[in-house]
Amino acid sequence: MVKKVVSDYLVIGAGAMGMAFTDVLITETDATVTIVDKHFAPGGHWNDAYPFVRLHQPSSFYGVNSRALGKNTKDTTGPNAGLYELASKTELVTYFNRVMNEQFLPSGRVCYLPNSEYIADGLIRDITSGVKTRVENQKTVDATYMNVTVPAVTAPSYEIEQGVQCIPPNELPNLTNAPDGYVVIGGGKTAIDACLWLLNNNVNQEKILWIRPRDQWILDRAYIQPGPEFADRILLRQVETFEIAAASTSLNQMFNQLVTQGILLQLDAAIQPTMFRCCTVTAQELDQLRQIRNVIHGHRVERIELDNLILNNSIQSTSPGTIYIDCTSNGLARRPVRPIFEGNHLTLQTVRTCQQVFSAAFIAHVDAAYENEDTKNELCTVVPHPDDTLDWVRTTIENTLNTIKWNSDPELKTWLSLARLDGFSGLSGESSRTPEQSQLLQRLFDTAPSAIEKLSAYFNENRNVAEKTPDYCSTIIDT
Ligand SMILES: Cc1cc2nc3c(=O)[nH]c(=O)nc-3n(C[C@H](O)[C@H](O)[C@H](O)COP(=O)(O)OP(=O)(O)OC[C@H]3O[C@@H](n4cnc5c(N)ncnc54)[C@H](O)[C@@H]3O)c2cc1C
Repeated sequence: MVKKVVSDYLVIGAGAMGMAFTDVLITETDATVTIVDKHFAPGGHWNDAYPFVRLHQPSSFYGVNSRALGKNTKDTTGPNAGLYELASKTELVTYFNRVMNEQFLPSGRVCYLPNSEYIADGLIRDITSGVKTRVENQKTVDATYMNVTVPAVTAPSYEIEQGVQCIPPNELPNLTNAPDGYVVIGGGKTAIDACLWLLNNNVNQEKILWIRPRDQWILDRAYIQPGPEFADRILLRQVETFEIAAASTSLNQMFNQLVTQGILLQLDAAIQPTMFRCCTVTAQELDQLRQIRNVIHGHRVERIELDNLILNNSIQSTSPGTIYIDCTSNGLARRPVRPIFEGNHLTLQTVRTCQQVFSAAFIAHVDAAYENEDTKNELCTVVPHPDDTLDWVRTTIENTLNTIKWNSDPELKTWLSLARLDGFSGLSGESSRTPEQSQLLQRLFDTAPSAIEKLSAYFNENRNVAEKTPDYCSTIIDT
């Protein structure tokens, strides 16, 4: 027997994006929604995250638009002291459960099918019972396309000899004895979190070997903060970024200047990063990470044996008592761009770099407020996840162009200024601006065209010609 559910929308995935989309939809329309997810609880990959994970950005602009996450307070102790709180795994999972159970379900307009897999054509299978449900709906929203993977549910791509202790970061707090040493594998944010966890638990840096196939450009979290207290500092940073880009003489010179100014951070001054994935740290965390001296740069792990660590062109001897922490899964895969709106099918993607929940909420608002599909896709130009250095250039251009476009639409400008998930539009209200902020904004508007022109030239010169990406030089900037 196949059960039947009728609703206006079918949202596949109750991760942060599916939840943020559904929230705006039921707030701004009368639509009914069926939301299906393989996980037994909402929140997506946060259910699988390592226990010591924290958001990399303040809680104040994460979650769903209609409900605050956390208390909007600043940390007073620890490496994030003076900056806005970062939700833990427990807080995130609890938050999404409360959104579902205290808002969505009591609205009477949401049907939630947890522990259930979407197969195709509206057909869903309950994973435990095998019972099938068919959803008859008008629109289908794919909130799985970004394909987030985390180490706990992803096998490493390298070989591991039997007996080697290779664990995801989730298992670090379960260790009962100190091993001979730790090898952290990966150069991304998860590896950073694992290294910080080890150091904060008094592991001597000499006991840590860090394999970083690629070093990454890092952002200072002190400049990713909400509210008026930080507004001038953040605005000034945007101005400086554009002025550096506009005045630059080459791509390398520009990156050197961004580093000198502290706009981009790197772990090791001698190693030019090749990866950019929106990773954030505080100054204190950066100092801690720099204490780790045993770093192997630019090599990938091919096989781990009991006594040897085999890299792509070297062999490192180790001991059987070493613990390997796999941090290599790709949480931010750069997926091929699809139109977000295709008839009755929506594919949720980012329209602002690494701002998944903002993007999902924004797309829901555009879907609710606009009729024409071309207009909707034009407003929701996808900004695919960054991966390499050139992606810093690309995403800076794409974010700017989207922001300009949105601010030229009075309705959207108002929506953005009221959106909790928009951590960056706080200065759009002219009446609340200080004279200093008005001056900074003027500097920003004055520099934006030449900065975007220069960045576009760098992008077009350096991008892989095989990639079908737009030619930004042809884009007209109107500030
Ligand atoms: C360590 C870490 C820290 C992060 N910190 C931040 C941060 O500070 N700020 C930020 O903006 N982002 C952060 N992110 C990015 C984060 O991934 C996104 O914010 C967001 O959680 C992604 O949600 P999602 O809904 O796209 O994906 P997911 O959480 O993966 O949700 C997708 C859901 O779809 C379900 N699904 C897939 N296929 C099917 C199917 N066939 N049938 C039914 N269900 C299906 C899955 O079970 C899953 O629950 C971080 C990521 C990581 C890994």
